[in-house]
Amino acid sequence: MPYSELDILAFGAHPDDIELAIGGTIIKHVDKGYQVGVVDLTRGELGSRGDADTRSEEAAAAAKVMGINLRDKLELPDGFVEVNRENKLKVIEEIRRFRPKVILMPCETDRHPDHGNCGKLVRESCFLSGLKKIETGSQPHKPSQIFQYFLAWEYQFSFIIDVSREFARRLEAIKCYASQFHRENDETESQTLLSRPDFLDWIVNRARYYGNRIGVEYGEPFLSPGVMKASDLTKLKVGPFTT
Ligand SMILES: [Zn+2]
Repeated sequence: MPYSELDILAFGAHPDDIELAIGGTIIKHVDKGYQVGVVDLTRGELGSRGDADTRSEEAAAAAKVMGINLRDKLELPDGFVEVNRENKLKVIEEIRRFRPKVILMPCETDRHPDHGNCGKLVRESCFLSGLKKIETGSQPHKPSQIFQYFLAWEYQFSFIIDVSREFARRLEAIKCYASQFHRENDETESQTLLSRPDFLDWIVNRARYYGNRIGVEYGEPFLSPGVMKASDLTKLKVGPFTT
């Protein structure tokens, strides 16, 4: 997967986080010709279903479906993603190596501690990455934008990306993680939130709800820590049900 400087770099705590939350947005920007990469902080080895090798193979297959330019992993311990100096230096070096304009990370209030800690670790590293006295081997780099995405329920979001055209491919990328989902006669396997027979329906219904909020079929929400700039009220695109 060739890359130069990336336009967008998305961090997830586990392989499958990106596909489950924002696969459509990733595919949309790849299709627009942007250089897009994904970094998984862990290999997901603590997951109740599937081992780390299986999940790595599934992640590679999903990366192919999404068409991303890079998929890297930091191999932090699954379940114990900590916001500490050592991990910040690893994330800073990723940011400096790939020099993205935009960085995506999970919302810090997510129910899974790894997701929330991934969000905090990456946000703090985005700031520190610009400081030249922190030496990691690569030149300092500060992204121009950071946005947060949601794995569990959101409480507040700033905008929704229309992923109607990309949604079928997002589902295809999600289904690459077959070890995580319900299969016929899998009663002997551990049961998780993802292995519930109705889990994919939940994914579809959520995306439909967000799409509905902006008057399209499917959507993915994001939170911006900064305020979006506007200069022409007549050109702002706001979803239906406001008047
Ligand atoms: Zn996860």
